[in-house]
Amino acid sequence: MVPLVFHPIYSQLSLPVRHRFPIQKYQALRDAMISAGAVQQQFHQPQPLVAEQLKKVFSPAYIDGLVSGTLDPKAMRRIGFPWSEQLIARTLTAAGGTVLAAQLAVEQGMAINLTGGYHHAFAHFGSGFCMVNDLYLAALKMLTYPGIDRVLVFDLDVHQGDGTAQLAQHRQDIVTVSVHGEKNFPHRKQRSDLDFGLAKGTQDEEYLDTVEHALDLALRYYAPDAVIYDAGVDVHCNDDLGHLELTTAGVFARDCRVLDGCKQAGIPVVAVIGGGYQRDIAALVDVHLQLFRAAGVIP
Ligand SMILES: [Zn+2]
Repeated sequence: MVPLVFHPIYSQLSLPVRHRFPIQKYQALRDAMISAGAVQQQFHQPQPLVAEQLKKVFSPAYIDGLVSGTLDPKAMRRIGFPWSEQLIARTLTAAGGTVLAAQLAVEQGMAINLTGGYHHAFAHFGSGFCMVNDLYLAALKMLTYPGIDRVLVFDLDVHQGDGTAQLAQHRQDIVTVSVHGEKNFPHRKQRSDLDFGLAKGTQDEEYLDTVEHALDLALRYYAPDAVIYDAGVDVHCNDDLGHLELTTAGVFARDCRVLDGCKQAGIPVVAVIGGGYQRDIAALVDVHLQLFRAAGVIP
């Protein structure tokens, strides 16, 4: 049984009316999975990360400012959420969820966090709805296990994993690979170990060929001992922020390919659900469910 990580706080954030972030999707996804046959015992509840620990990894001044609500307004605008106690509690718990899922994946082969993928968070600032880079923290956690000397962050969210790329830039033990829309946020890209920038309007066949190639290359060339998979669904044709043209079946094929590739390579994989910005929450959840189908969690 694949361990799943969820906390109700994932969807507990009051946002201004018409804010484009679909905060309800996490609870809706969890409920849809229970309806589809996932069992309660499969869900693990994470603890919030502690600011003092984060200050050992990221800029202490940034973490202090973030947690205390004293970042300047420009820095908060770059993040894209109004500051609140709730925002910080949610952020620390969501990142804790990815770290917990990473541990469970190492121990059991695969695990999924029902949020995560905060790949636009850097050491000194947050951006694009991301404040604490959970993917980088998960990689560090996996590297503490014996036999795990190199971790691959395989980022298929439609937006480039710029924060993760920069955080891991000088490390040989964290490899970053990003397949993303070239003409999309972030407009100033960072350099991942491997980057695949796709044109607007890219459809299933070309997309899946690119993913196949990227995964094959990453697994063979870098021979990672574990994988962190950002399964963002903002590649979907109905996404408000994506500009790609993937079908729901295309997303399912992608997720199957990545999870099967890790299984065949015999390495643990932790997945996070990543971005997805359709305003119709039910339709959005339906696309996110593909990851859990591909993992065999639900039929
Ligand atoms: Zn995204």
